[in-house]
Amino acid sequence: MIYADHAATTAVSPAAIAAMIPYLDTVYGNPSSPHLFGQRAKAALDDARSRIAHCLHADAKEIYFTSGGSEADNQALRTAAMIGAANGKRHIVSAAFEHHAVLHTLDALAREGFTVTLLPVPEDGILPAADVAAALREDTALVSVMYANNEIGTVQPAAEIGAVCRKRGVLFHTDAVQAAGHLPLDVQADCIDLLAISAHKFHGPKGIGVLYARRGITPKPLIFGGGQERGRRAGTENVPAIMGMAAALEEATAHLPENTVRLTALRDRIIAGLRAIPQSCLNGDAVRRLPANIHFSFAGIEGESLLMLLDSRGICASAGSACASGSTEPSHVLTAIGRSRALANGSLRLSIGEECTEADADCIVQNVQEIVSYLREAAHWNEN
Ligand SMILES: *Cc1c(COP(=O)(O)O)cnc(C)c1O
Repeated sequence: MIYADHAATTAVSPAAIAAMIPYLDTVYGNPSSPHLFGQRAKAALDDARSRIAHCLHADAKEIYFTSGGSEADNQALRTAAMIGAANGKRHIVSAAFEHHAVLHTLDALAREGFTVTLLPVPEDGILPAADVAAALREDTALVSVMYANNEIGTVQPAAEIGAVCRKRGVLFHTDAVQAAGHLPLDVQADCIDLLAISAHKFHGPKGIGVLYARRGITPKPLIFGGGQERGRRAGTENVPAIMGMAAALEEATAHLPENTVRLTALRDRIIAGLRAIPQSCLNGDAVRRLPANIHFSFAGIEGESLLMLLDSRGICASAGSACASGSTEPSHVLTAIGRSRALANGSLRLSIGEECTEADADCIVQNVQEIVSYLREAAHWNEN
């Protein structure tokens, strides 16, 4: 079995599991309780908050726990929109290849009277900061551009976009869900005002994430109730998951340099192997991409059939995003970078993990090669 769908979700690492267990069975107090059990949980929560802040080059007061990446994106966009509206600014700039957590929130904001400019994305899958600068208006409240794309893996010039926004007095949100634990993140160096991450994409548990909001930006609550998260996100904190997330992020951050070197070499080995397949094309820039992302389109095949046959041979991959699978519409990301419907339908995303070996990489390449030629032959036979 080879699991090559880490962009969809990852296994919880042993270190993260170990960090969670005490908070499931011994330190189970409610952090809001003034007694000993509660205060021990509260101390753990404070500790996790500063450790996570440290990994992002943020301050603990700028970290808000959420139920994951989707909630953090929703809250970031709504916060910036409300701040903008209070200053008479109701224009938002984003890009066509964003995650649906961003795109669908922007749709909702558009229905509520905001104007959204969705920038087109060049074929290499990288949005130039100059395009963002050119789209800014007097009434622009927010720019939201993802740090790295979840389908084609391209890494965006976040620092340049952040600098443009800071200079023009526009808030900058970045969905860094695919970047956290996989690329170095520095909210200060990149002039990031709002940022979303999710633990299950870096070997932490599902259902927990972080909204970073720069000092001076007060998140607007989506969930009302108790006074948790300094009144910005009601609900008893998921202490075990938060402890698991902190451990997972620290572990990923500590091993980032060597993981990047190893994964990049394996990624490029797979890319070279798949490029040898006739009428194949790599989607997204070959260099400015996540160390573990490989994304190809193959002419003349159905991606769904390729995935099913790979699965039957013990290789788990994806066509694009897990969230969009099951729909027959071509991926909005591939459409955004100008891939034809036919090519978009024959696509494959491989997102490898730290356990991947050279033998696994070669096995993936060989199986994709075999299945693509089998499917093309079968299609040819059906035509005749
Ligand atoms: C997975 C993902 C999300 C959603 O995160 P959840 O924690 O699953 O809600 C948002 N944005 C990107 C880029 C993602 O890859």
